[in-house]
Amino acid sequence: MRRKDKEVIDPQKIEAIIESASILRIALFDDFYPYVVPVTFGYHEGKLYFHSAPEGKKIDLIKRNNRVCFETEADCYPIKGDVPCKWSMSYASVIGFGRACFIEDPEEKMKGLAVIFRHYSDDPFEIPDTSLARISVIEIEVESMTGKISKKPGEVAAG
Ligand SMILES: Cc1cc2nc3c(=O)[nH]c(=O)nc-3n(C[C@H](O)[C@H](O)[C@H](O)COP(=O)(O)OP(=O)(O)OC[C@H]3O[C@@H](n4cnc5c(N)ncnc54)[C@H](O)[C@@H]3O)c2cc1C
Repeated sequence: MRRKDKEVIDPQKIEAIIESASILRIALFDDFYPYVVPVTFGYHEGKLYFHSAPEGKKIDLIKRNNRVCFETEADCYPIKGDVPCKWSMSYASVIGFGRACFIEDPEEKMKGLAVIFRHYSDDPFEIPDTSLARISVIEIEVESMTGKISKKPGEVAAG
């Protein structure tokens, strides 16, 4: 990373950024352009989970090539400057790479959905088997990821 002062090295800090993020963006291989799609997600022990209808462009592309790039961010807000070129953005972000695969086993699917639900809520989690059968649950095994934190001057940043 060019800005070493903003790089997050500590894996726990990288995971903390993921935990506080709301949306995961997944980049997939297509023929002429990359395809980026935002999804809700959960993270557990080196794996990202998201759910989807079983059809659609992202599903087709994952079936063709399951190598993905992903991005997520938290704590984003503009930092005002005296002049336009002194404005900046506070953010904490993660970019990573991995392989997506479809979870087929119903019990494992349920666990994946629970991870997603727990990312957003502590409410009781229950999904009927009939609904489970209609949903695809995708796991991304993270192969590498990097974190970056950009803060106001003087605020504690990366590390
Ligand atoms: C905040 C947020 C959270 C979401 N969470 C989920 C989730 O957890 N699971 C899930 O499956 N989907 C989620 N979606 C919707 C998701 O982004 C896709 O729209 C959806 O998954 C369908 O994708 P697809 O590749 O099957 O598109 P298709 O229905 O096959 O359509 C493909 C075409 O539609 C366009 N398109 C697809 N999605 C979008 C979009 N979001 N915005 C603009 N154009 C689009 C593409 O450019 C493409 O040309 C979320 C969207 C947002 C914004």
